[in-house]
Amino acid sequence: MPFNRWNDAETHGLSALELLAYRSRLLASDRSIVNIYGGNTSVKTVEMDHMGRPTRVLWVKGSGSDLATCTPKDFAGLKLEEVLPLLSRDSMSDEEMVAYLSRCQFEPNRPRQSIETLLHAFTPHPHVDHTHPDAIIALACAERGEAAAREVFGEAMVWAPYIRPGFALSKQIALALQANPRATCVVMGKHGLITWGADAKSAYDSAIEHIQRAEDALREAQRRMFTGVSVASPQLSAKARRCFAAQVMPALRGMATAGGRGIVTFDDSADVLAFLERADAETLSQVGAACPDHLVHTKRVPLFVRWNQQDVESLLHGLREGMRSYREQYTAYFQRYHTDPNVRMADPVPRVILVPGLGMFNTGRDYMQADVSRQLYHRAIAVMTQCTWIDRFTSLTEEEAFHVEYWPLELYKLTLRPPERELAGRVAFITGGASGIGRAIAHRLAQEGAHVVIADINEIGAQHVAEAISQANGQGRATFIRCDVTREEDVRHAFEHAALTYGGVDIIVNNAGIATSAPIEQTSLADWQRNMDILATGYFLVAREAFRMLKQQGNGGSLIFIVSKNAVVAGKNAAAYSAAKAAELHLARCLAEEGGASGIRVNSILPDAVLQGSTIWNSEWREARAMAYGIKPEELDAYYANRTTLKVNIFPEDVAEAALFFASARSAKITGAFLTVDGGVAGAYAR
Ligand code: NAD
Repeated sequence: MPFNRWNDAETHGLSALELLAYRSRLLASDRSIVNIYGGNTSVKTVEMDHMGRPTRVLWVKGSGSDLATCTPKDFAGLKLEEVLPLLSRDSMSDEEMVAYLSRCQFEPNRPRQSIETLLHAFTPHPHVDHTHPDAIIALACAERGEAAAREVFGEAMVWAPYIRPGFALSKQIALALQANPRATCVVMGKHGLITWGADAKSAYDSAIEHIQRAEDALREAQRRMFTGVSVASPQLSAKARRCFAAQVMPALRGMATAGGRGIVTFDDSADVLAFLERADAETLSQVGAACPDHLVHTKRVPLFVRWNQQDVESLLHGLREGMRSYREQYTAYFQRYHTDPNVRMADPVPRVILVPGLGMFNTGRDYMQADVSRQLYHRAIAVMTQCTWIDRFTSLTEEEAFHVEYWPLELYKLTLRPPERELAGRVAFITGGASGIGRAIAHRLAQEGAHVVIADINEIGAQHVAEAISQANGQGRATFIRCDVTREEDVRHAFEHAALTYGGVDIIVNNAGIATSAPIEQTSLADWQRNMDILATGYFLVAREAFRMLKQQGNGGSLIFIVSKNAVVAGKNAAAYSAAKAAELHLARCLAEEGGASGIRVNSILPDAVLQGSTIWNSEWREARAMAYGIKPEELDAYYANRTTLKVNIFPEDVAEAALFFASARSAKITGAFLTVDGGVAGAYAR
């Protein structure tokens, strides 16, 4: 239910453009009113131009921003006196329209104006909002949409039958408003709502009031319905759903992503499950998009997977068959309608995958894209559900949908994304990522576009690192999970978490560690065992789970072991640590041999002492090392300080750079190798 969130105290002293941004964010703070990346808003003001002449300016949302987070800089400014004469034209192509409007800029260096700019310009009111509220679209997508909307709004509504946005639709609406000057809203068939006001607050109030009326009417219709919708299938428990999902997601990610780049997410929230329980869920889902703005993010229809809701083989079979036929059908759809040889077909894979009893999977080139399609499909579910309370749900025809999905102006929005980085769409799983070297690797790989799973026994530390990475690189780019690498169950669970969050893994950094140092006579069995448990057994458990998941995905992968110089150089008074590190190194080389045929590379990095940021160095290790050399800990510090002046100091970031090399395609032809990171000074230790 929309409620009025306007707060006069927050708007005090704001300029017209700031008020527009405020109103826009307020509208979009309710995603049942403004979809992510959807909708546009405007205000008409008088500004002084660069020569001091008063000029009427239309400020309208620019392409590529989201109203929920917009600020004044996200709006384009156009000189109205140059835009309005277009109303006298009979027709105008999209290309002409864009070229013309970009000549009407009031100020340079602003984003390109929304593709729905003319709607705003031609609507003869100072403050105009174009939104996609669930309740309005539920009316607008009904088979008898105009009549349904008329019953709610009467003569105060202008009805605009669906045509793709552009000059023709804007002019049609402008003429209808001229003929009906008392209208308070425009309902756009199968599309959305336009409302307005004399000032920012009354425009906002009007949007909320209209949506509220539509919602009330729909609720009343639902109440009057004779029976509920028949329910098809019982639900699996939440645990069972996650277990099924985690088992199939790596294989699904392998099927859904080109060359293993991309993310698959899982959503089993209550509204998704309730929709999938409907006996008519499959039929409804195949009607078409609930709003044209969803199309580039969700494709025209989702993949609906049938399975016996009992065993994973049936689910995998359903997914494989479904993906195969979706590809065929999507390719045929593209071939039926495309005429421009310069337009390339998008990946013929579904962006939304619905599995009754289980939930929804979403695919995307990165987490954010998968999440946009996820959010939009929640809107689609709400629209379809509400529409069935009053009528049959309808959508654009297949041909109309094609022309929106492949509309150059929509595709332009996609080009506004920053260029892809080296590890875009990849997932890195890093053990011991809460501190020192692991943390530096996590940050470095994320900087290059990877999604990161921080698995560490130190849960709070892992959480901090994951949060810092998401903050720096974008929402959802990192996740964390408590994991003791010596425990088989923890390791399995951590990989399950990676699968449920991102669909799988590509880069696995075996890094978690401790260090102990003592002469052999004083090395307890417990110490020996602890080194072996974490550094040898722990690395084995992580590598084994990694191999299983990588093989399910079928796109190869890269394992990176953070070993130590101690694996190849005898470390005095550190036999347990060094022997365990040697076991790690040999394990890595054996796995390189085993993984080669599946495209799984396994390489090792052998750092010399990395003092900064490492907690192992702060522990008893420092004192024990000093003892091993027969010197005081301060003398050891002095020795390393001296190394610093010789520029032999090694930082976690230096090791991270080596890890990036092994994670990237630049080392695609290298496996079974070990790389020393020793400060770049020859003779620091054996090569
Ligand atoms: P660090 O102590 O700063 O980080 C190690 C991380 O591993 C910590 O976050 C810790 O919580 C985690 N961890 C410990 N036991 C774990 C377990 N059972 N399960 C999961 N996580 C666990 O140390 P660092 O210096 O960053 O070391 C990282 C790796 O680099 C280790 O394998 C270490 O042997 C190796 N290495 C370090 C140096 C050095 O001088 N620091 C030199 C060569 C090799």
